[in-house]
Amino acid sequence: MRWRNRRQSGNMIDRRGSGGGMRMGGLRMGSGMRRGGGAGALVLVAIVVVALIMGIDPMTILDPQGAPRPVSTAGQDELRDFAAVVLADTEDVWEARFQAQGRDYTPVPIVLYTARTTSGCGLADSAIGPFYCPQDRRIYLDLGFFDQLERGLGAGGDFARAYVIGHEVGHHVQNLMGVLGAVQQRQAGLPESEANALSVRLELQADCLAGIWSHDAEQVLGVLEPGDIEEALGAASRIGDDALQQRGQGHVVPDSFTHGTSAQRMRWFRRGYDSGDITACDSFVAETL
Ligand SMILES: [Zn+2]
Repeated sequence: MRWRNRRQSGNMIDRRGSGGGMRMGGLRMGSGMRRGGGAGALVLVAIVVVALIMGIDPMTILDPQGAPRPVSTAGQDELRDFAAVVLADTEDVWEARFQAQGRDYTPVPIVLYTARTTSGCGLADSAIGPFYCPQDRRIYLDLGFFDQLERGLGAGGDFARAYVIGHEVGHHVQNLMGVLGAVQQRQAGLPESEANALSVRLELQADCLAGIWSHDAEQVLGVLEPGDIEEALGAASRIGDDALQQRGQGHVVPDSFTHGTSAQRMRWFRRGYDSGDITACDSFVAETL
């Protein structure tokens, strides 16, 4: 993706390093993070469950190695600049798309933090990965996640990172369109497996919206480079529920899926990217995902 020397969004809220003493907490384990893996995994699961109950959408990276490793300051600042350019591009694309339908687009801020911070959805912990909080309409991102994505999960390349941001912005678009609230209401009275099935449709739609954004970033903004889409698809394939569960626990439990399989995530991203048509993203009426 061509991103250097391009407009950066003003909607970045930088709280990096403000965690102070909190960084000593159990989940921030640095290079010795393999210690106490069992208890750590339980804590991670607990965090994710709490996050889901509170309506947070975690990217849910249940990496058995624990929380993201710290990235060097220089590397972090480059990642910060990259995220700010991607966010600016999402603003341009979604503003134009909303305007075309006679609606206003309210930009979503990204809160950058290290390890932990407070959010409108409760405590944000980098162990749950990037997420969108519908309550305060903000995206929470520890830049260390991108290192985890590349080195831990093997999804490298700048557009793998752009896809992650595009996905979270997709949740914001869902929120503005009323989809997020409606789904969360429906989920409230459902058994867990059915609530999970709805969550999968919500997540696949966010992947499709990330695809729509990528389509416009290429066709309208002209900032994509060869290989970018493959990088996004590579990331989508590595964060499918089946891939993560296989990696984390050695077997898969489809009823517990909340984000969709690798194949589904790739398919829905592609659907948005190939069509550029937001009506193609209605995962709630699709018979097969
Ligand atoms: Zn999501």
